[in-house]
Amino acid sequence: LPPSSRRPIRDLPDELISQIAAGEVVERPASVVRELVDNALDAGATQITVRLLAGGVRLISVEDDGGGIPQAELPVALRRHATSKITNLHDLETVATMGFRGEALAAISSVSETALLSRPAGQDSAFLLDARSGELRPAARSQGTTVEVKELFFSTPARRKFLKSDATELAHCVEAVRRHALARPDVGFAVWHEGKLVEQWRATFTPGESNPQDALARRLADVLGEDFVEQSVPVQHRVGPVIVTGRAGVPDAARSRADHQYCYVNGRFVRDKVLTHAARSAYEDVLHGQKQPVYALYIEIDPARVDVNVHPTKIEVRFRDSREVHQAVRHAIENALAAPRAAAAAAAAS
Ligand code: ADP
Ligand code: MG
Repeated sequence: LPPSSRRPIRDLPDELISQIAAGEVVERPASVVRELVDNALDAGATQITVRLLAGGVRLISVEDDGGGIPQAELPVALRRHATSKITNLHDLETVATMGFRGEALAAISSVSETALLSRPAGQDSAFLLDARSGELRPAARSQGTTVEVKELFFSTPARRKFLKSDATELAHCVEAVRRHALARPDVGFAVWHEGKLVEQWRATFTPGESNPQDALARRLADVLGEDFVEQSVPVQHRVGPVIVTGRAGVPDAARSRADHQYCYVNGRFVRDKVLTHAARSAYEDVLHGQKQPVYALYIEIDPARVDVNVHPTKIEVRFRDSREVHQAVRHAIENALAAPRAAAAAAAAS
């Protein structure tokens, strides 16, 4: 720009800051679903119900039975960088909750009409906060929280134009819940669209159950289908500080699309090149051509050895020692795939 048309440097208005930040976190209705379900899980919910209208564009409501938010903190929950989950750098480096950035509710409420309804544990009344007007009033609810997000991107029409059909947005929302459901067989999930129940996954964990792999297998069967479980083998492996569990599909279960590949790090769904590559290399000798293996892998690792603060949506992580993780995943799958073959060979020899 020629110097004459240069404008002075100014602080951006607060709302615009939130809307800019929202661009990183809230791409489409499914991003809102992911953030709200994260929050419900962090609050200790055992049942989470997601209700959608028009693929989530007109309404996303996420209802939980978790610990709730005290009345006085409802307005704080909506503020940027306000969180109950970390207080210092040490907490950040060892974070065990899904959230910690204190950004989601601020971002979401800057690009929608958001309302928070919550009744904390031990309180006998609920309060409703309307984010836009700031109005806070008593309301009725059992213990837990409902976050209602209406008219997503109503104030940012450019963003709204990028949305796909309701059916496509709905599919993404369901996938967001599916990713959570596969990590938490102990929590019940339901998704409703336009008043119809679309998916329901009941909590499959029975307290005192000796083998958590059984609960996981039931959840995997509910979410991905009986075939997934029948055509996969359990993974259970530990290399140094890295524990890998879950299930790996037998080579015959491989698909043409990579749509049944789920990886979790400390309970968080991630997309990670190291993990995908490690899994792929475990199938190197048994899977040929373009076929994609299927798996659900759960990596447990000291939180200090993985940085989750790499990306605003936290879908990417950075491992302190990626070779260590790569090896653990590769060996975990190789061993799991070899076990039934070894058993079959032993049975045939005897
Ligand atoms: P973060 O999850 O990173 O802390 P959010 O903006 O998602 O940031 O939420 C802000 C705060 O609001 C959370 O730290 C939590 O204390 C509270 N909160 C949000 N959703 C819920 C919920 N469903 N149940 C209880 N508390 C919640
Ligand atoms: Mg959050």
